[in-house]
Amino acid sequence: MTASEIRALFAVASRPEVVSLAGGMPNISGLPLDVVGEALRELVLTNGPVAMQYGSGQGLPELREKITDIMRLEGIEAHADDVVVTVGSQQAVDLVTRVFCDPGDVIICEAPSYVGALGVFKSYQCEIVHAEMDADGLIPEAVRQAIAATKAAGKKIKFLYTIPNFHNPAGVTLSAQRRLEILEICRTEGVLVLEDNPYGLLGFDRDPMRAMRAEESEGIIYLGSFSKTFAPGFRVGWALAPASVREKLVLAQESATLCPPQFSQMAISTYLDKADWQGQIKQFREMYRERRDAMVGALTDLMPAGCSWNVPDGGFYVWMTMPLGVNTKTMLPNAVKERVAYVPGTAFFTDGFGSGAMRLSYCYPPPDKIREGVRRLAGVVERQLDM
Ligand code: PMP
Repeated sequence: MTASEIRALFAVASRPEVVSLAGGMPNISGLPLDVVGEALRELVLTNGPVAMQYGSGQGLPELREKITDIMRLEGIEAHADDVVVTVGSQQAVDLVTRVFCDPGDVIICEAPSYVGALGVFKSYQCEIVHAEMDADGLIPEAVRQAIAATKAAGKKIKFLYTIPNFHNPAGVTLSAQRRLEILEICRTEGVLVLEDNPYGLLGFDRDPMRAMRAEESEGIIYLGSFSKTFAPGFRVGWALAPASVREKLVLAQESATLCPPQFSQMAISTYLDKADWQGQIKQFREMYRERRDAMVGALTDLMPAGCSWNVPDGGFYVWMTMPLGVNTKTMLPNAVKERVAYVPGTAFFTDGFGSGAMRLSYCYPPPDKIREGVRRLAGVVERQLDM
């Protein structure tokens, strides 16, 4: 295990004078704290002894039921028995890897991919094979080739790990057509799909897309989270898995934590009952859209020629590619000196790629800070190009 580039950055980026475009922290300042506070108070006073007790290894039945309602927004028809509650979806990634992988097994990941999942895969000594993406997300032909090359090398592929919606870090969304194609390839090749979807309900311009899990239920494990649609501090996410896998995940969960936090689960269940959670998600979407606009507007106005970026239609992230010759990893100390932080692209690859790109997050700072951060960053890039 090694410290991720992001972790090392956090200490620097959290200094007040630094505009951090680095972290992916959701902005939860808009949450109705009075409603949450009232729900928590009621929970403690009416049901405290249960809420503060150990719970089921699979998770609270009434919350698992509500999770199936949430997944229905993305076309998933599922039974609460097939849901396993986890400590954030991060733990779901960990449990799935623990259940399936031996050292040396291959996991196919997008290029780039979520740094936290790459860290899990490396900790189980898995080998990561990256498959290319473009503006429509993961490229089916790249998946086909990655599978063929891995099999030809005599290695075992355990699953394809994909983030179809508002990708972290690439900001792109997998098209509906490609979802079907990739499922078909994986079905034919006997490769399990791990669909990680913490951002799916945070689209700016349209209703949520159908999840890959909505199209197929056997060869796929779906991961969800309350971190971005409610609050990450409760640390509640989930996995939806075929029954045989689900049983193993529960055993793995019990050995890891005995049970996911009962208090958090009951708190979220009460919040879902008492609060207008769908209205709250709509507010989050509007807030993040305003921030996306601030970032893209500032990039357009301020970045030097040769930089390019995508315009995400949901989620938290913009992926920016630099003009030739700019190395985002070696440039980072200069950026921090100028009081702006980003994550170098190399954090999201395991094969040394990504030094010509960076991830910018617009989720946390307010719009004026985002613009100021981009202004500082543009200056850093310009000086780099002059050198
Ligand atoms: N998957 C992806 C793609 C993420 O971006 C994150 C959080 N940054 C997670 C999983 C983990 O989220 P959590 O554990 O808070 O549910």
